[in-house]
Amino acid sequence: MKLIFERSVAGRSCALLPECDVPQAALPQELARTQSLDLPELSEIDLSRHYTELCKQVHGVNDGFYPLGSCTMKYNPAVNEETCSLPGFTGIHPLQPVHTAQGCMEVLHTAEDLLCQVTGMDVMTFQPAAGAHGEYTGVLLIKAYHQSRGDTARNQIIVPDSAHGTNPATAAMAGFKVVNVPSGADGCVDLEALRKAVGPNTAGLMLTNPNTVGIFDKNILEITDIIHKAGGLNYYDGANLNAIMGTVRPGDMGFDVIHLNLHKTFATPHGGGGPGAGGVGCKEILKPFLPQNHVIKTENGFTFENAPQSIGSMKAFYGNFGVVVRALTYLLNLGMAGLREASQMAVLNANYMRVKLAPHCKIATDGICMHEFVMSLKDLLKETGVSAKDVAKAMLDYGMHPPTMYFPLIVEEALMIEPTETESKETLDEACNAIIEILAQAKQDPERVKATPHSTPIGRPDEVTAARNPRLRYQ
Ligand SMILES: *Cc1c(COP(=O)(O)O)cnc(C)c1O
Repeated sequence: MKLIFERSVAGRSCALLPECDVPQAALPQELARTQSLDLPELSEIDLSRHYTELCKQVHGVNDGFYPLGSCTMKYNPAVNEETCSLPGFTGIHPLQPVHTAQGCMEVLHTAEDLLCQVTGMDVMTFQPAAGAHGEYTGVLLIKAYHQSRGDTARNQIIVPDSAHGTNPATAAMAGFKVVNVPSGADGCVDLEALRKAVGPNTAGLMLTNPNTVGIFDKNILEITDIIHKAGGLNYYDGANLNAIMGTVRPGDMGFDVIHLNLHKTFATPHGGGGPGAGGVGCKEILKPFLPQNHVIKTENGFTFENAPQSIGSMKAFYGNFGVVVRALTYLLNLGMAGLREASQMAVLNANYMRVKLAPHCKIATDGICMHEFVMSLKDLLKETGVSAKDVAKAMLDYGMHPPTMYFPLIVEEALMIEPTETESKETLDEACNAIIEILAQAKQDPERVKATPHSTPIGRPDEVTAARNPRLRYQ
């Protein structure tokens, strides 16, 4: 397709500016441009067609099935976009006097209240802009807690090998030594190894639950108890709350701090990297360390409170406010019963696909999964030379986005599928049939599968070069 610069014709425009109604003034010479600005000049229809064509080059949730595991790429209700576009929300300035921003502050306060009810936490901040950013905030809270008690020997964070990759990265970023704990064959934390790992240096544990193989750890109460008895605090990676909301609460399972991915579970579209919100909830004991600008309700309306021993600001002002408006819309729309049903459907859909695919390929763990499951194509690769990547590429020709590949690292030739709750039985059946067909083809005609995809604008770019040396400039 043509670049927008190649479509440009000098003098063409789609701006209809009103007549100038003030005297014209010349710019001071030193501020004036010496060369003309090289911007594309297009009519509105050419501009519209350009972006429509660009849209068709990528696969989005609105195009078809998008089962990217660990990402919760679900269809998000359009009403969320409507509410967050209301002028009262978009026209506000972060430095406005608080008495003129009471509605927006009520949004933050109400969303906090509801999400604390969902998670079993006492307070929440919306400053962090992403899940990983929320983890970093939460682990800094744990660090501040120990330091405030003069307990400076606690320099280790325990992270099971089934954790999301951001967990060990976060602990290291926050200055902790990462202690890895293995999982057993059932996908759950090895309790004996955990007991051996804790001690006077344990600052805390970061648990991804459901973990990256889609399993709810059946020993979760024992795990949090082991950490508490050793003097540590428990961090819950709640990015996967889509599997459990409305059914169990991390706050009731011994967790002291949690992050949520509002852009996953609570309905903000997040393809292409943003915007997000990693709301961090914690128990009363960590409240004195919260980031700045926490909204509280007083007799005279809403106001901001800064915690006495705050870890400081994690982001300017109040985080990505529009994401919180979307989350609140979703929460109020569904209600507590609706949230529970959404999770139940997400879990049902994943198990439906898991059971349908199980006769055709190895599933990484036995038994019921949560909102996602992991296939291991190790045997297929050995038998046919067709890899997990080849199968993922072949799915593109069926109008589906590939699942997450080669993650989690503890499963060989992994494909991780998260169907989400909004997909119909028909879509799930189509997806299963397509995967079964690809697996059969891999055995009959492996070269054919290895040559896919045939239907996309780009087939198999060199992923390392594309990530390390992206060419983003027009030359
Ligand atoms: C997505 C995810 C994260 C990281 O969230 P970002 O918003 O991408 O930073 C952390 N943990 C788990 C389990 C996740 O699925």
